[in-house]
Amino acid sequence: MQKMRQQFFFSPTMRDIPQGADVPSHQLMLRAGLIRQTAAGIYSYLPLGIKVLKNIEKIIREEMNKAGAQEMLMPAIQPSELWEESGRLDDYGPELMRLKDRHDRDFVLGPTHEEVITSLVRDHITSYKKLPVTLYQIQTKYRDERRPRFGVLRSREFLMKDAYSFDKDKEGLDTNYEAMYRAYENIFSRCELDFRAVEADAGAIGGKGGTHEFMVLSKIGEDTIAYSDGSNYAANIEIAAVPDVYEKAEEPENQIEDIDTPNMKTIDELTEGLKVKKEQLLKSVLFIVDDSPVLVVCRGDHEVNEIKVVNALDARDVRMAEDTEVKEIMGAEAGFIGPVRAPESITILADNAVKTITAGICGANERDKHLRFVHPDRDFSIEQYGDFRLVQEGDPSPDGKGTICFAEGIEVGHVFKLGTKYSEALGAEFLDENGRSQPMIMGCYGIGVSRMIAAIIEQNHDENGLIWPKSVTPFDLHLLVLNPKQEDQLELGEKLYQDLQDEGFDVLYDDRKERAGVKFNDSDLMGLPVRITCGKKANEGIVEVKLRRDGSMKEVHVDELFSYLH
Ligand code: ATP
Ligand code: MG
Ligand code: MG
Ligand code: MG
Repeated sequence: MQKMRQQFFFSPTMRDIPQGADVPSHQLMLRAGLIRQTAAGIYSYLPLGIKVLKNIEKIIREEMNKAGAQEMLMPAIQPSELWEESGRLDDYGPELMRLKDRHDRDFVLGPTHEEVITSLVRDHITSYKKLPVTLYQIQTKYRDERRPRFGVLRSREFLMKDAYSFDKDKEGLDTNYEAMYRAYENIFSRCELDFRAVEADAGAIGGKGGTHEFMVLSKIGEDTIAYSDGSNYAANIEIAAVPDVYEKAEEPENQIEDIDTPNMKTIDELTEGLKVKKEQLLKSVLFIVDDSPVLVVCRGDHEVNEIKVVNALDARDVRMAEDTEVKEIMGAEAGFIGPVRAPESITILADNAVKTITAGICGANERDKHLRFVHPDRDFSIEQYGDFRLVQEGDPSPDGKGTICFAEGIEVGHVFKLGTKYSEALGAEFLDENGRSQPMIMGCYGIGVSRMIAAIIEQNHDENGLIWPKSVTPFDLHLLVLNPKQEDQLELGEKLYQDLQDEGFDVLYDDRKERAGVKFNDSDLMGLPVRITCGKKANEGIVEVKLRRDGSMKEVHVDELFSYLH
């Protein structure tokens, strides 16, 4: 509990919609004084904001601890060698923030902690007797997002809860995964979020069915969910395609085929020319520009974090070609922000003329002119492509129960069966019951703690401001003295301020000498669940109690106030 007179409360509010804030949560977090931007995608949390963050953290800690995970804290700064060992130093792409120390040694600012945790566990667990173990932290992450936006929803520095499980066998991983999944359901339910767990794209790592995203339903969400109205089926649209799409997508050889252009390079030759790994090229689209194929290569590990345009004939980087220069890649933000999605159009400078090519009109999406294993509609927009057909609204659900509906979602959590990718790369092995050395089987589990605030706000606001769910509200009550110059009002206000705190309530006390209208507006904007106003009837011991969510008001005598509030 915190004593807080609003007169001294560092919570600068704004009347107008701040420039550059496009979604309600971003606007309201600025207007109500929860955050301020320090640099693009980098925010300071003001007292009101940090209180909400702490409340969310508390819920997360309780549920993680209950699920048997152990809290720890790892550093934000990580030596680059660890990332070299895992092979991700290059794979991660420009989202990885890099720095050097005074001795010219290379470091990264951690976007995630698989490397650090795996090396720690590797050094200290050598026997099956010490497994399983699940460790977690709530820690600041850094991702140099191509387009940070929507405030804390997609920022470059953000708070994440990340957990990692280590098991001796697959069954153990399944059990741990299940425990984390349940913990996530509890966390998001306790934060009163309307969410769905959806099957997600395992990308380059992890097997089928080995990953779920927790999506908060919201029309500003950057992901699309396909769900059934007649069952629990729900999947990210990325994978909600007819089943043979994933079958094909997992085949190892990846080739450009069926394009009747002579001298077409194979993916193998291309990757060599580009010095990237084959699996990183899975999300690529072919555009035909003036009869020459141009490949838009979306690089990434399990998601796109870099886009390159190359001449598909000779694997030249178009940027480096003499007469061709990439000016702009339009629509590519979607690929960086939401699930993997390749650019909708590209603008290139060829023969000194600017040409914009849209995926739909440049011929790339014609039958037989595409890369095999590109996911339709994720990598390019197309309704039907041969065997590949994406689930449409109104289709029967793949489980045969109900029909498919679409909804937009904000990814607030992600659980992932990693398997042995990191334990093998970093040599995290243990001796099993038979004395044989085995790589540990890992899972990883993330929650965007700061993103959750924005997600909660997206689902809990009206035109006047925030409406906090009780479980995360920064204060329980907003106590207002309408006119502090009136002695009876001030006296009652001061007494209630004390009594309510003694009763265990966390109270924000508006004792400012402001007009009533300003106070009411600020109160609605801040959105505490209950507002108690000491006004004209203070001399009779009567206050007005307003519930923020439904706007209902009631006059209550102070003698009945506590029983009314409980
Ligand atoms: P996204 O698809 O939105 O880019 P992600 O899949 O890259 O997210 P994960 O690697 O799964 O993110 O990280 C775990 C969680 O961290 C995400 O589910 C999300 O809630 C949160 N998160 C990821 N990137 C950001 C960001 N830039 N700003 C705030 N939260 C983020
Ligand atoms: Mg991302
Ligand atoms: Mg994602
Ligand atoms: Mg994710």
